Amino acid sequence: MAFESLSDKLSSVFKKLRGKGKLTEQDIKEAMREVRMALLEADVNYKVAKDFIADVTQRAMGQEVMESLTPAQQVIKIVNEELTRLMGGDEAARIHIKSKPPTIIMMCGLQGAGKTTHCAKLAKRFLKEGHRPLLVACDIYRPAAVDQLCVVGAQAGAPVFKLDGAKPEEIARRAVMHAKDHGNDIVILDTAGRLHVDEELMAELGRIKQTVPVDETLLVIDAMAGQDAVNVAKSFGESTGLDGVILTKLDGDTRGGSALSVRAVTGKPIKFAGVGEKLDDLEVFHPARMASRILGMGDVLTLIEKAQDTADAKKAEETARRLMENKFDMNDMLDQLAQLKKMGGAGALVSMLPGLAGKVDMDEINESKAFVHIEAIIQSMTPAEREKPSIIDPKRKRRIAAGSGTKVEDVNRLLRQFEQMSKMMKQLKKNPKKFGRGGFGR
Ligand code: GDP
Repeated sequence: MAFESLSDKLSSVFKKLRGKGKLTEQDIKEAMREVRMALLEADVNYKVAKDFIADVTQRAMGQEVMESLTPAQQVIKIVNEELTRLMGGDEAARIHIKSKPPTIIMMCGLQGAGKTTHCAKLAKRFLKEGHRPLLVACDIYRPAAVDQLCVVGAQAGAPVFKLDGAKPEEIARRAVMHAKDHGNDIVILDTAGRLHVDEELMAELGRIKQTVPVDETLLVIDAMAGQDAVNVAKSFGESTGLDGVILTKLDGDTRGGSALSVRAVTGKPIKFAGVGEKLDDLEVFHPARMASRILGMGDVLTLIEKAQDTADAKKAEETARRLMENKFDMNDMLDQLAQLKKMGGAGALVSMLPGLAGKVDMDEINESKAFVHIEAIIQSMTPAEREKPSIIDPKRKRRIAAGSGTKVEDVNRLLRQFEQMSKMMKQLKKNPKKFGRGGFGR
């Protein structure tokens, strides 16, 4: 997975800082020099790395860190926020689907970047969301490309429009008419790729855009090409006008430099990341989640979403069973919290755990900041501790707090809440009537 070595290096820099207690300017400078080296080794664009370090240093030298009780944690917090900002900010960039169909998406990119595969990945995703996408074969130079689109289109379950002997812009025009006639609300144009960026390719994309009202021009780039991919994005952005980037093969990219540089170099957001060859291997690119992956805090939300896509019912059943058997542990708690957060309210959790309404202080964990803490704390525990939190001694509490960027009080509070929940479960099992109708699983 991407960012492995960057994660390792950053974590050793922060470990050194943690060991120091109060930080001097020299400590911060030294740490930032190491972070900069780590970024450059991850193939982050030179200027991007330089600006990043300047921003983080400026903030880290400020009062919020120097006067803080836990300076190292403040530095990690700043790096986390700046990494998120570097990749596009808190909100993931989405594709805007127009209320008046069809929304036209033009996919472009160099040969081999993964364009055709990602046309089908997007189509599959849109189908799941209840849309009716139409894939369009606009690559007239390689018959094999048209055949490939037909194959992956069929795998995704989306129709493919093709037209022999016509120019790409004519194919696009006819496809849009076809979509209107057949109720396809999204049209995905798979355009020709070349071995390198050339004028002819740009002119062709320009003609398509003049012929049909393209809503979204997405550039597909290969993460494994590192800074070359970023340069491709820059040239495309300058001549074609882009709305966003799909960064493919992130699964094979151990460095992650392109993910960290694209936004800053091109000004365009990464909207999706390709993480494998299968059609389901597509993730919405969430800068904040990526940042927490890089900092080794895990990306629980994306994992949970994946689990929900594939095994939602099974998982819910499993949780219910574990509850019945009094085996509910902190892993389950983590799952429940992530789901709750996704659903956006305590009501959802309470309705899954009948009897708990009004008995546990849900407001406290319902604030998203608290969620982030809880997730981080549980992530910092060992598997054995998550299964049996009572084994956590004061020394481990301190380590867990340090590892999760929280305070020992936060860890204690969470453990108390968990204990409270476990007690409720036991009572509920003994005396279901006391907690109202139904009991579990109904
Ligand atoms: P195109 O020439 O840009 O249309 O590229 P293709 O869609 O034909 O993809 C080129 C190769 O990259 C194929 O072998 C794909 O299976 C592979 N590929 C595409 N996306 C990904 C990805 O996200 N991860 C991995 N590991 N392979 C990918």
